Amino acid sequence: MARPAVDVFGSGGVSLGSKIVCDGYADGCPVRVQTHVHDDHMGDFNKSKGQQDIFMSPETRELLIAERDADLEYRDNLIPIPRGGEYPLDDGSTLTLLPSGHMLGSSQVAIELPDGTRCGYSGDFGWPLDDVIQVDQLVVDSTYGSPRSIRRYSQSEAEDCLLEVVSKRLRYGSVHISAYRGTIERVLHVLAGNVNVPILASERLMREIKVYQDHGFAVGALDALDSEAGRFAIGERSYIRLYSKGDGFDKELIEGTSVKCSAFFTVGTDHPLMEFSSRSYSVALSNHADFEETLAFVEATGATTVVTDNTRNYGWELAVAINDRLAGVRAEPSTNSPVPS
Ligand SMILES: [Zn+2]
Repeated sequence: MARPAVDVFGSGGVSLGSKIVCDGYADGCPVRVQTHVHDDHMGDFNKSKGQQDIFMSPETRELLIAERDADLEYRDNLIPIPRGGEYPLDDGSTLTLLPSGHMLGSSQVAIELPDGTRCGYSGDFGWPLDDVIQVDQLVVDSTYGSPRSIRRYSQSEAEDCLLEVVSKRLRYGSVHISAYRGTIERVLHVLAGNVNVPILASERLMREIKVYQDHGFAVGALDALDSEAGRFAIGERSYIRLYSKGDGFDKELIEGTSVKCSAFFTVGTDHPLMEFSSRSYSVALSNHADFEETLAFVEATGATTVVTDNTRNYGWELAVAINDRLAGVRAEPSTNSPVPS
């Protein structure tokens, strides 16, 4: 069988045909598509910035501008394209982005090549999704590609659990919550209006949350750490502090409780809360599809050729599961070959 037209380079960049690379840089590819702003998808971004046209959703562009150098705002090779439309590229391909339910601006990518082959990349994705790319060949994220990565609780149960533990621990002092970007905004959405203490964040996180608010995401009010309200609340030890990228989550809290929000899968665990001590918890809040949901996504794309991303996690296990479980679909792990030079 001929090699698929899609693959993942060792650098983590995802190739769709020979001219387009997602979330990475490759010589000879004039186009980069940026699926979202998480660091593990930002490889070689500065190199791309100088040499490629970079397509992304308008929301992703705004988050990058809020986070990075102001020069991004003035570059004409950072091209925002609304999700849902078809965008013609110079080589005769057509590019479509659809929401991937992972964080603000995150996208699934579909390319129809000049020969009519439809190639796609899931990016990081949540499930269920209203619209799924329809493709012949697919690269699928394998973060939770292991059959052991199955949640036995719903995300709304995880949200209830977060609110419950935070409310309980506020009686004993401050509560410090860390999560990935995208998930931290969801934490704020869950807490706002349901707790009666100020919620504090760094200036950087407040800038990021402002982009969410600008796009109609109801996240609730925040106070800056060094604002009058923030300083007063810290003095009273009666507040919630949110932490995300670059906020230096304090490993040794002098007072208060720490709560980490991220997916965890432990065999036999059927509850979204883990208690490490009376002052340290983890809640399985995640904007990421689990194993069964990943299979449901692959099936919904209609792809008959699937390459599992084997640069990050569980590519082999996911490929085996797809071949076992999805009739008419042939899957193999990515080659992780060097970027072409
Ligand atoms: Zn991500």
